[in-house]
Amino acid sequence: MVLINPKNHSRSYPDKASEEVMLKTIEFFESKGKTKLKDDDRNQVWYDDFLQFQKENKIFSTLLTPKEYGGANPNARWDTYRNCEFNEILGFYGLAYWYTWQVSILGLGPIWISNNEDVKKRAAKALEDGGIFGFGLSEKEHGADIYSTDMLLVPQEDGSYLGQGRKYYIGNGNKAAMLSTIGKIKAPGQVETGKYDHFAFFVVESDHPQYTAIKNVVNSQSYVAEYELNNYPVTEGEILAKQRDAWDMALNTVNIGKYNLGWASIGMCTHAFYEAINHASSRILYGNRVTDFPHVKQLFVDAYCRLVAMKVFALRACDYIRAASASDRRYLLYTPMVKMKVTTQGEEVINNLWDVIAAKGFEKDMYFEMAARDIRALPKLEGTVHVNMALIVKFMKNYFFNPGEFPDIPRIDEARNDDFLFNQGPTKGLGDIQFHDFNLAYGDVDLPNVVVFGAQIEELKMFLFASASDAENAAKQYKDIAFLLAVGELFTLVAYGQLILEYRKLVPADLSDDLTDQIFDFMVRDFSKHALSIYSLPNSTENQMEICMKMVKKQVVNTERYNRIWEQDVYALKDRYKMND
Ligand SMILES: Cc1cc2nc3c(=O)[nH]c(=O)nc-3n(C[C@H](O)[C@H](O)[C@H](O)COP(=O)(O)OP(=O)(O)OC[C@H]3O[C@@H](n4cnc5c(N)ncnc54)[C@H](O)[C@@H]3O)c2cc1C
Repeated sequence: MVLINPKNHSRSYPDKASEEVMLKTIEFFESKGKTKLKDDDRNQVWYDDFLQFQKENKIFSTLLTPKEYGGANPNARWDTYRNCEFNEILGFYGLAYWYTWQVSILGLGPIWISNNEDVKKRAAKALEDGGIFGFGLSEKEHGADIYSTDMLLVPQEDGSYLGQGRKYYIGNGNKAAMLSTIGKIKAPGQVETGKYDHFAFFVVESDHPQYTAIKNVVNSQSYVAEYELNNYPVTEGEILAKQRDAWDMALNTVNIGKYNLGWASIGMCTHAFYEAINHASSRILYGNRVTDFPHVKQLFVDAYCRLVAMKVFALRACDYIRAASASDRRYLLYTPMVKMKVTTQGEEVINNLWDVIAAKGFEKDMYFEMAARDIRALPKLEGTVHVNMALIVKFMKNYFFNPGEFPDIPRIDEARNDDFLFNQGPTKGLGDIQFHDFNLAYGDVDLPNVVVFGAQIEELKMFLFASASDAENAAKQYKDIAFLLAVGELFTLVAYGQLILEYRKLVPADLSDDLTDQIFDFMVRDFSKHALSIYSLPNSTENQMEICMKMVKKQVVNTERYNRIWEQDVYALKDRYKMND
């Protein structure tokens, strides 16, 4: 089965240590139990028990220390495949637990990318001692607009600096052993020279007297800090990078971190799914079992198919992250999609399930109530959906019209350190990145809804071609973010389907013909919906509207297939998992 079931954990691991990390983490949460989990959530209790557990078992240290800095721990490595599952498990039990891990990843990103050996060794030691980390990028007035950063490193006569300024929305800001912070080297009021000249990334420690965690800005178990550096002394020894390198460090760290957001959604949706099917399948209304209502079946089948699609897409994206190199940067399309597409699909899954379980989804002893609240966060963190969509449309032209040649990328689940992630290099030149021909994935799949979806893609290509041939209008439309976002939705669907089909080829046992066709049932419907959105845009032309209507197609309905999925894949999950009380 594709979805995780912590009570029947059957994944195979290349090494015993990785298996132990996952099983011990499951055991920690199941022993804690749902009652305490929910009490702690309600009372916004700082998750010291979880941090103690990870410290005692050296979990963050094993998972987040690159091999080179792992010292005596033979299992330490940065292994994206292994980290996917840890993300999923933490999301399964609660977003707050995931968040402290996630912002530690972000905080470590600039450190492992840097050439500052001393800070790297200190970070490895802090991890070994059970430390957590933070990433100080956002500011109250400017959010994640780094160009406008107000945090300063004011140069002193002896060559050192004084950190002055505040950061806002910074996870773990109360306890982080180190916070990677971005600022500008300049005196207050000094006029800036070039766009990148003043940037610097540096580390601070949250227990330093010149550091103040002013407040937690959110109502949560997590501590999302506003912090202040009040003449915090910084030397070259704390600097991670300067100028353009510091800028690239920020973006390259977010490239690594944003991938995890989709996994948190997958974990949360999976737990919510078990709760929903358990509840609905045992509830009788007006003499009917709730799961016998046809609309309830449809909501469950859609939720299940969307969730499986989220997971297999994210798993396949992992292969591209692990295969990445300076000459293969395809991951830069797939990671923002895991961030933006997978997390918004997570919202749809929860919406569907909530329509089924209705009042039950509000109850205080349900995991669901937390998932319904927290699933909204993931599309908004580490760049909004808009920002990520604006990023990926840069790839669209080459994706459709200028494919490159690449060797086949197999499934990469072996135990190895992902060296390239901390050596991604300059962040420029996105529009030049090439992708392999997406037709290779679609071409040999002869399933009815995949065929319809393929016809929709052909119409989309016509749309793009026709739009580009009217150069004057295209220049206007492609400056209009609303237009770009709408077209980006269709582009995203094509790449989403591509990786789902690639996964199927590599792991056919996970995606039967029935399930694949049922997944493309919702993909065809989504394609039609987004085509209609473009049709309705204020600035769509007559020609574009005509092609949009050709993109609107009906999915191939197959009642037998649908019933099999309902019986064998969806309803079969009832009573398979229930968290310990
Ligand atoms: C719980 C929580 C935890 C967080 N943790 C951290 C952390 O640990 N470290 C950290 O540094 N930050 C953190 N953040 C900040 C987070 O990364 C930002 O909230 C996020 O990047 C969005 O920025 P914003 O909320 O300021 O939105 P804004 O930047 O104010 O965006 C406003 C609107 O403009 C749109 N927009 C902005 N720029 C563009 C663009 N280029 N193209 C198209 N549309 C655009 C947005 O989509 C949005 O609709 C956290 C935030 C929260 C809520």
